[in-house]
Amino acid sequence: MTGTLVLVATPIGNLGDLSPRAVEELSGAALICCEDTRRTGKLLVHAGIKGVRMKRLDDHTERAGTAVVLDLLGAGQRVVLVSDAGTPAISDPGERLVAAVVEAGHTVTAVPGPAAVIAALVASGLATSRFVYEGFIARKGGERAIALARIAQENATSVMYESPNRLAATLRDLAGACGGDRRAVVARELTKLHEEFVRGTLDELAAWADDEVKGEIVIVIAGATPALEADDDAVLAALRMALNTGVSRRDAIAKVASDLGLRRGRVYDLALTIPGGVTPPS
Ligand code: SAM
Repeated sequence: MTGTLVLVATPIGNLGDLSPRAVEELSGAALICCEDTRRTGKLLVHAGIKGVRMKRLDDHTERAGTAVVLDLLGAGQRVVLVSDAGTPAISDPGERLVAAVVEAGHTVTAVPGPAAVIAALVASGLATSRFVYEGFIARKGGERAIALARIAQENATSVMYESPNRLAATLRDLAGACGGDRRAVVARELTKLHEEFVRGTLDELAAWADDEVKGEIVIVIAGATPALEADDDAVLAALRMALNTGVSRRDAIAKVASDLGLRRGRVYDLALTIPGGVTPPS
């Protein structure tokens, strides 16, 4: 038999963000896998959900928990995975469980909802068309140096999580790697009473963070050098390449605009010069 694993996003601070569909899935699950049964238990009480079995599934118990989940799915059941807050498998347990469930041929679906990375990015005021999620970068050593260099060179917006007590040091390191005048945003306590967005250069933010900063933190960093706009010939070449893959005109325009970080209207105008007619962008 085939079962279904449902990844359910839960609030990152504001309980009002628990969606009706999340409540429906949590209520009807054969088992809720969670990082902390007490914490998830409180969420269930808030949602008025009673009598659903919970099982701890964190980094240490993921392997054993996977076997239990696969057994239930094999019996055709529906299992829900939540994390303490936000979207499971985003800097939280779940990635390996999902891979194992997919491998075993069961259905996996998601109830989307809060994720600090997305809330911080969309409200940052920085470019959203392309972004790279860095999670928590390494605290020291070569891995940290590599992550900093990667962010420094990245043209897309980078988003990372950091603990408040390492914030100042990380902002200083980012300023060292990217240059102190790179724009960035610190998003703090998203969806909570003391939500705050501090916008500035990395130097300004590092100086601000020298005074104690508390709460949960996301750092959003502008991409390296405002991307040089591709010239018309480069856009036309990219359009022809996309069209050669057999996609529709509309999809080719959308892809080239996204890949090159261009306005769709400009790509559309250039596409008109390629014989064959073009569907207007939506
Ligand atoms: N899975 C979660 C998600 O979807 O965002 C992330 C879990 S990760 C273990 C926890 C980190 O996410 C925190 O240390 C912080 O960097 C970020 N975070 C979570 N909630 C936040 C909030 N309300 N405001 C700002 N950052 C938050």
